[in-house]
Amino acid sequence: MDLDQVAAITVGFAGADLANVVNEAALVDTRRKGSAVTMSDFTRAIERIVAGIEKKNRILGPQERRLVATHELGHALTALALPGADKVHKVSIVPHGIGALGYTLQRPSEDRHLLRRAELLDKLVVLLGGRAAEMLVFDEPSTGAADDLAKATDLARDMVLRYGMDGGLGPVAYGEQPSAFLEPSAHPRSVLGSYGASEQTARQIDSAVQALLKDALERATELLRARRAALDRCVHVLMAKET
Ligand code: ZN
Repeated sequence: MDLDQVAAITVGFAGADLANVVNEAALVDTRRKGSAVTMSDFTRAIERIVAGIEKKNRILGPQERRLVATHELGHALTALALPGADKVHKVSIVPHGIGALGYTLQRPSEDRHLLRRAELLDKLVVLLGGRAAEMLVFDEPSTGAADDLAKATDLARDMVLRYGMDGGLGPVAYGEQPSAFLEPSAHPRSVLGSYGASEQTARQIDSAVQALLKDALERATELLRARRAALDRCVHVLMAKET
């Protein structure tokens, strides 16, 4: 066992999560009738906890596999292209959990309690990297990015509403948000006037959020366009190897 590596891919896990990982690794080992828990049992256990259980019986056709591979590599290649982004640990197109057809596991290099604006912008780029890759290769969006869009929208909204990171709106916090840093956001992803702001300000907030997301998608597209040959090669390899 390389415990340093286990520690590196479980940054942010609580003690109870770690206990869970160890139990799960033992189960994975038992299931494959192994005699000792190995590093790959641990990696698999962490994946099960982060991404859900592998669904080997959910078979995708070649077109969909190509779409999923392209999408996941959009995340992976944008993350690799941005020096501050979390390192890419693993990319897989084996379906997991309830909805995930593929996933990209990133590994934060350290526990973080504060993030700078530029880092948040880079996170938006990586979140939208999947959609950007689909658009670049297939010239059309798919439903595969729904979850990414929800996460990116929540983050962009937090930047504008909670962290005062939009120049036009200034250092103002809108809505009734608890003030803890980096907590998952709870505001409804909705309508005008729900921010405790005037209607005009609400419009300004919506367009600030939109601008952040559009810029991030554009940056992701540019990064991938410049790496198109690598993207195509990686899609080929990922479809052959699955992980
Ligand atoms: Zn995605």
